Amino acid sequence: MLIVLRSDASQPDRDRVVDLIESLGYKSQLIDGHERAFVAIVDHDGRVDIARIAALPGVEEVIRVTRPYRMVAREWRAEPTVVRLPGGLTVGGREVLIVAGPCAVESEAQILATARAVKGAGASALRAGAFKPRTSPYAFQGLGARGLELLAAARAETGLLIVTEAMDEEGLAQVAAVADVIQIGARNMQNYALLKQAGRAGKPILLKRGASAGITDLLLSAEYVLTEGNPDVILCERGIRGPDATTRNLFDLNAIPAVKALSHLPIIADPSHGTGRRAMVPAMARAALAAGADGLLIEVHVSPDEALSDGAQSLYPEQFALLMEELRGIAAAIGRELA
Ligand code: PEP
Ligand code: MN
Repeated sequence: MLIVLRSDASQPDRDRVVDLIESLGYKSQLIDGHERAFVAIVDHDGRVDIARIAALPGVEEVIRVTRPYRMVAREWRAEPTVVRLPGGLTVGGREVLIVAGPCAVESEAQILATARAVKGAGASALRAGAFKPRTSPYAFQGLGARGLELLAAARAETGLLIVTEAMDEEGLAQVAAVADVIQIGARNMQNYALLKQAGRAGKPILLKRGASAGITDLLLSAEYVLTEGNPDVILCERGIRGPDATTRNLFDLNAIPAVKALSHLPIIADPSHGTGRRAMVPAMARAALAAGADGLLIEVHVSPDEALSDGAQSLYPEQFALLMEELRGIAAAIGRELA
C-alpha cells in the first residue's frame, strides 16, 4: 500500500502517518521524491483500514498495490479450482456444467416434468428454488420444505444433481440436507453471516453476483466462504443493474474473463436473469460459453406461460433442447465438452 503525501505535508503530518502505520503493527518506509513524499506500508496482511489513513492531515491519496482478497486470488492457487460434484461431475475443468430448471418448484407435476425434459436434453443438474427471495412480499415465495422433498424426488427419478437456494441462516441446514450445490442468490451476496455459515456447510456453494456488486465485491464475498474452510465455490454472473429497461439486467460478459484472470475459482453464467427475456437467452448463453464460462444456469419450464415466477425468461423445453445442441458445437470449438 502506498500513501501519497500532499506537497505541503509538514513533518508532523509525516510523523503521524508513520506512527499510525507502526501502531497497527506494520513496517513503513518513507520515499522522499522531488515534489512530494510517499510512505509505503511493507508486508501488511490486507487488513489496513484505508479510510483511517486517508483521513489524516497531509495525505493526498492511498493507493492499494495489492488486492483486498487473498484465498480466492490467482496468486494463492496457481491451478484453477475444479469443484467436484457427486456422480463424477466437475466444474472449473474441461467440462461445462449445464444447470437447468424452473425458477421455483411449484408442484410435483411441474418439477418432475421439467426435470425429465432437461435431463432428456442433456443437462447435468436441476435447479429450482424451494425458498424464493422475491422482490415483492406478495409474490409466490416458494413451497419451502415441501419443495425440497420434491427436488429430492426429482433427483431420485432422473439422477440430476440438485441446486437450490438457501436464503437465511435458519434455512441453510435444511437446504444443505438435500442440495448437491447450495445457491446463495444475488440479494444475499453480501449477507456475511450467511456466507460464513455457507463456509461450514460441507457442500459446494453457487454464489451469484449481487445486482449492484462489482467484481471485487463478488470475490470478497467468496473469500468469506473460503476463509471458513469451504474451498468449493462456484461464482455466477447473472447481470447487474443497468441504465436500460429493455433487458432485466445488464449481462456482464466481461466479468467472465475478468474473474478468470483474477481468481482460480470457476464461474458460470446465468443468461436467464441476465436478460430477463426468453428470446435473448439462447444468444447470451452461447456468448457466455464462448467467453469462457465453466457452466450455464438456464431457466426452463414445462409451461412457462403458467409459471409462478420468471416465466418470461424461462425457455420452453424444445428451445432448451435446441440450445443444448448449439452449446455442444461451441464447446467442441473451444476444446471443451458439456458435462
Ligand atoms: C434465481 O436464481 O431464481 C434468482 C432469484 O436469481 P438471482 O439471485 O440471481 O436474482
Ligand atoms: Mn428466477
